[in-house]
Amino acid sequence: GPAHAAPGGGRIEVPGVKHIIAVASGKGGVGKSTTAVNLALGLAAIGVRTGLLDADIYGPSMPRMLSVHEKPESTDSKQLKPIERYGLRTMSIGYIVNEDTPMIWRGPMVSSALEQMLRDVQWGDLDVMVVDMPPGTGDAQLTLAQRVALSGAVIVSTPQDIALVDARKGLNMFRKVAVPVLGIIENMSYFLCPKCGERSEIFGHGGAHEEADKLGVPFLGEIPLHLDIRTTSDEGHPIVVARPDSPHAKVYKDIAQRV
Ligand code: ADP
Repeated sequence: GPAHAAPGGGRIEVPGVKHIIAVASGKGGVGKSTTAVNLALGLAAIGVRTGLLDADIYGPSMPRMLSVHEKPESTDSKQLKPIERYGLRTMSIGYIVNEDTPMIWRGPMVSSALEQMLRDVQWGDLDVMVVDMPPGTGDAQLTLAQRVALSGAVIVSTPQDIALVDARKGLNMFRKVAVPVLGIIENMSYFLCPKCGERSEIFGHGGAHEEADKLGVPFLGEIPLHLDIRTTSDEGHPIVVARPDSPHAKVYKDIAQRV
């Protein structure tokens, strides 16, 4: 509504980019960034020209997850060149600002930083740009959701009730600004023992699926809690590219097909 009208008006579009999709979560630590990266890699794996924008400026994780140690170069037109990794064009505030520098952002700074990463980066032609949003549903997130011309949003949640309550807030935030919610992904759905392969439903099971049904949005898939998913990310070589034939990589590629 008018109370939330974007200052300056107009939604930010990126020329040459067909769809911008936000990956969001109601709170931190549910695996939003891990999911965003592997989903982007899953899209690239099925032939979609994909970009990845790390807008999680409170805790940018792309430098580590994609082992990017170099700084982006500038173009003649004073734009920054995205850094290419594993077939993705990527940009992160973490490429520009030192990872150890504490960053205290206010809402307006968050949205202007994101605006710059959309406008002042030479993204080129892309089918999809995946945006890893800052976690939560505060003013900064709401502003992003309404300022950027999003084709849709994907919500990542764990099966725990408390995370689902937050996921619902995320969904309502996107609905408020008329961004279609493409669906919910359940992360850490169940624990898969790396030694014996046994499956344990430590947080209960099916919570996000039920929630998605209740809320009338698609359920996009469930990702297990598995050591390989964390270690490959920490090594800067996420599971979809590190183990392309693993069942986990397949889950992300299946989800990529559905969004
Ligand atoms: P968020 O972006 O929601 O804060 P992250 O993606 O940074 O969360 O994930 C938090 C931690 O959990 C990271 O160490 C990550 O490697 C790990 N993690 C995320 N998803 C999984 C998973 N499915 N299996 C194992 N570890 C995971």
